[in-house]
Amino acid sequence: MIAAGIDLGGTKIEAQLFDADWNRGKTKRVATPATYDALVEAVVDLIQWAGPVPVGISAAGLINPQTGIALTANLPASGKPFPADVTKRAGRKVTWVNDARSVILSEAVFGAAKDVPSVAGLILGTGVGGGIAVKGRLLAGPTGTVGEIGHGPLSAPTVAKYGLPLHACGCGRKGCVETYVSGPGMVRIAEALGSDLRDTRLIAAERGQVWRVWCELTAELLLTLSLAADPEVVVIAGGLSNIPHLIEDLSAALKAAQFGGFGIPELRLATVGDTAGASGAAYAAWRKANHG
Ligand SMILES: [Zn+2]
Repeated sequence: MIAAGIDLGGTKIEAQLFDADWNRGKTKRVATPATYDALVEAVVDLIQWAGPVPVGISAAGLINPQTGIALTANLPASGKPFPADVTKRAGRKVTWVNDARSVILSEAVFGAAKDVPSVAGLILGTGVGGGIAVKGRLLAGPTGTVGEIGHGPLSAPTVAKYGLPLHACGCGRKGCVETYVSGPGMVRIAEALGSDLRDTRLIAAERGQVWRVWCELTAELLLTLSLAADPEVVVIAGGLSNIPHLIEDLSAALKAAQFGGFGIPELRLATVGDTAGASGAAYAAWRKANHG
């Protein structure tokens, strides 16, 4: 075994070992504890279970690299020096990667975009996450927020065009992309436009105005990603990526949003599946250990 990944989510924590060909070996799964001390304990146990290989942790939420403090809605670790406490108890350092970024790195190295060097990713689910990977490495900077595009502003022209109200976001801001582009956000668009539909699958299947407005807002987000990173491929993952005509409709909306006749990145569905978080984090840890 050459590396381990620990997928740390709100309901379960799963550790996976990987061999030299990045095939999955042994796995171990435990329920996510409800208290901070028990959470630290559970993560330390899994690090010890993994043995003396580089360990990457794919964790819901953010770790502020400047303070070491966690910010997370899904784990009982917000406001705590989570990585430092785990390091202290485990007696070794591990690599921490945001869960959306882990999935995107996995897709860039092993999955839907392994044939191209520059990849952006968009996770469309109960929230909106993102990330950018170039030549198998995630872009990362001093704040650790690269890819947090769900908390950037919505497209003002689109919001104004349809008279959409602005909603408060869980992050403390108002009018974030996530408030309309996530799954619950799509339902908010339905409410705002007077549709009776409250299920994202039904809204998508209808392919009516609610769906078109959601595609337009999401395409504006994709345009921002494209203008910032100019990736060859954008991989789409998360619960909403199960919508059958998603790639087709978003590609058309992105093409319509692009200016000046410039091209658009190719949109592709994620292919790695459930193991993407763990394999992406394991790869980040392995690469750090072997290539700096
Ligand atoms: Zn926000």
